[in-house]
Amino acid sequence: MMLKKIGKSITIVNAIAFTIVFLVGGISIYLTKEILHNAYKIEDLSKDIIEVDSIHSDAYRLVLSMHHFLLREDETFVHITSVLSELKGKIERYLESESDEYIKGENSEIALLKTVFEHVDKLTVVNDLIDEFNRTGKLDKDKLLSMEEHAYSIEVITADINKIHIEKINWWTNESLSNMWAILFMYLFFFLIGGVSIYAGHIALLKNLVRPIKELASATLEFADGKYDRRVKTDLETEIGQLYQSFNSMAEKLQENDEFLRKFNEELEIKVNERTGELLKTNDQLHRTQNALIRTEKIAAVGQIAAGVTHEIKNPLNSLSINAQMLMRDLTGKLEPDSAVHESANLIRYEINRINNILEEFVKFAKFPEPQFYDNDINQVISEVVELVSESAKKSGVTITVSCQSDMPIVKFDARQFKEVLLNLCQNAIRAINNSGSLNIESAAEKNNVIIKVKDTGEGIQEKNLDNIFSPFFSTKEGGMGLGLSIVQRIVESHGGRIRCSSQVGSGTTFTIFLPIERG
Ligand code: ADP
Repeated sequence: MMLKKIGKSITIVNAIAFTIVFLVGGISIYLTKEILHNAYKIEDLSKDIIEVDSIHSDAYRLVLSMHHFLLREDETFVHITSVLSELKGKIERYLESESDEYIKGENSEIALLKTVFEHVDKLTVVNDLIDEFNRTGKLDKDKLLSMEEHAYSIEVITADINKIHIEKINWWTNESLSNMWAILFMYLFFFLIGGVSIYAGHIALLKNLVRPIKELASATLEFADGKYDRRVKTDLETEIGQLYQSFNSMAEKLQENDEFLRKFNEELEIKVNERTGELLKTNDQLHRTQNALIRTEKIAAVGQIAAGVTHEIKNPLNSLSINAQMLMRDLTGKLEPDSAVHESANLIRYEINRINNILEEFVKFAKFPEPQFYDNDINQVISEVVELVSESAKKSGVTITVSCQSDMPIVKFDARQFKEVLLNLCQNAIRAINNSGSLNIESAAEKNNVIIKVKDTGEGIQEKNLDNIFSPFFSTKEGGMGLGLSIVQRIVESHGGRIRCSSQVGSGTTFTIFLPIERG
């Protein structure tokens, strides 16, 4: 609607401007034509003035000639006749050129011309007087003097005629000047009107069209740059106003969609993270279950082997032990106690004992007893273990520190088995400390678990070994069975708990046990 209005207004303004230009042009041409016309008239009048002035001069010359003749009464009369005929001829020519005016009717100039002609007519008598003078040699001076008056009158009247001519010239000049002023005034007036109209139109277009469109364009660019909260405001009730409203509602819808998409993406990301976490957990669980299964299989195999080997080895070993004892008894008193035979017999006994111990470890490992769950205090177990290892720790230069939470909950667990767990961990820790170091045992209750930490400042475990330390028969120690941590893990897991190990070579190792407070 607004654009239609603007289009219509522009057409009307153009039509008005065209009409004004046409009218001003027309009037200017007309006035210029008048000025030209006046110029021609002035030109004609100037010629008339010259002619009348010439008549005036001739009349003057005639008067002078008459005076001469009157004074001298000599040949100078020739001048009178020639000037008179010239004057007459000029007046006749002039009257002829002014015949149009003459026909048009009376006016003051024509009336004066007529009088001039009458005086000329009367002057012709001068010729008769001169003729008479030529013939008789006598001059009628009074008559000539009266004729002089006619010549003088002609002189005066011609001066009056030229006065009229000059007045007319003045009048036409003024008229031309007025026309010029009118043209100038019209030009300036319409120039001013045109300028003001153009300025007003420019302001109106700027306010109603250019600026709003510019703002809309910049808002669109900002919107495209991702500034979805950009809105535009206007009081215009035109198509531009409608455009603004459309932009705002479009922006609102797009912002809503963007918000929805953002939320959807966030939720999706959370869900993906959750699922990934779950998957990782499941994977970890699977991994652990797999490891546990392998371990269980290994343990079962070890159990079978242990049972068989023990059965097969135990009897010959017993007979070897008895025979060695008998040999020792026989040799006692017959040979020196520090003889080579005595030494060999002792070595045999020592090695038989070592094999026996290994077999017992095997059997213990294979016949893993079910834990006996009773209400127990873990801090109590810790202090018993510390007492057991304090001597060997002292010897190895290891300082033991204990930091136990005082109000620990009473938990159902097998105290004997847990004693074995902590003993194993502490012995390993002391062995890992070469010269001097510290062993720290901590206990705390956290959420659903009792947490026990065994930290040492020993040699640490290489990263590649961390996955294997809980496997049976894995050992980095010379003569190590590699069953200790495997038994520890079995005990902890049979209590529904977990054991984790973190270690840094050169800094030390920490074993963390999570023992559930409530058994599921
Ligand atoms: P063993 O003590 O007979 O070697 P374990 O099962 O007790 O068997 O230990 C397995 C291996 O774990 C050890 O040989 C050792 O390499 C490593 N280990 C266990 N505890 C520690 C510890 N506190 N510091 C460094 N290494 C350790």
